[in-house]
Amino acid sequence: MGDGENLSQATQRDTMSYRRLGKTDLNVSLIGFGASPLGNAFGPTDPAEGKLAVHMAIDSGINYFDVSPYYGLTLAETRLGEALAGKRDRVVLATKCGRYGVEEFGFSAKRVADSLDESLKRLKTDYVDILQAHDVEFGNVQQIIDETIPAMRKLQEKGKARYIGITGYPLKTLVRIAEAVPVDSILTYCRYNLMITDMDEALTPVAKKHGIGLINASGLHMGVLTERGAPDWHPAPPEVKEAGRLAAAFCKEQGVDLAGLALRFCFDHPYVASTLVGMSSRRHVEDNLDLMGTMTNRELEEQVRTLFAPVANRVWPSGRPENSD
Ligand code: NAD
Repeated sequence: MGDGENLSQATQRDTMSYRRLGKTDLNVSLIGFGASPLGNAFGPTDPAEGKLAVHMAIDSGINYFDVSPYYGLTLAETRLGEALAGKRDRVVLATKCGRYGVEEFGFSAKRVADSLDESLKRLKTDYVDILQAHDVEFGNVQQIIDETIPAMRKLQEKGKARYIGITGYPLKTLVRIAEAVPVDSILTYCRYNLMITDMDEALTPVAKKHGIGLINASGLHMGVLTERGAPDWHPAPPEVKEAGRLAAAFCKEQGVDLAGLALRFCFDHPYVASTLVGMSSRRHVEDNLDLMGTMTNRELEEQVRTLFAPVANRVWPSGRPENSD
């Protein structure tokens, strides 16, 4: 590496913060790159632009990348694998297993092992840093505890995954699994942002107690907290989406971007190791990186949270009825 490259990396890294993920030896950037938009989860995206966004993120110090075979039905993994060619050693790479379609799941030991091999091929690597059981609330929780997690530990022993974790929406299901069997990381989404903070009541204390790394996803509430608004498939009730629209308009009047305010709120969390933001364009990477150097606007944050009060902490059903919050 030449001196110039070294210097530019050092300068850029000064602006990014890193946290240790639970008890692992992984230091992850406070902003994590959520790769689901690379699989067109929020509408069609330009693959060339997505690749440049990944490169810009890495060069700017974002080192945590999260993907899944489910995103774009393998498209996101394929695109991320292409973008990471020659850069794999600069990132902490997390993928998932168990979810393969809106209603397609497979948490058996065999499916999980095959799934990781397939992911490794698409990601053009021979190991991932974290392998996560994806959306555990759709599985049989006892099977996840007795079969899926032990199978993932075997993959860890083989060196195909450095650590293992679980992801999902209902907090009680994540807690039930984490209390029953050791996991290295937990990812939840839409449970800690300007609209909702119940992650801190139900999950954060458990993660802290066991030293489990905590990943917060969807700080933009999967698009609700942006000017563009939520995608059609968004599961939130209409009044939640409407509250997002009102808040975006209110912030615009104040000359502030709601998305920036919302992400800054998440980055300020004291325990979360990384906040995953879905990105597929350099513009969003740049906008979100800029937030690292900005102060929190507490007054506006409070005003927006007051506006959200009627829909605050609103959750929707997810997974099997017995697993839903
Ligand atoms: P998000 O809340 O991060 O919203 C993503 C949307 O916001 C995209 O349309 C993106 O283009 C847009 N966006 C990003 N930065 C913006 C900005 N500065 N201004 C305006 N719009 C902006 O939702 P998400 O992508 O679902 O969540 C982030 C990531 O977390 C996912 O990509 C995925 O990797 C992970 N995740 C995992 C699970 C799970 O494991 N069950 C669930 C949800 C999310």
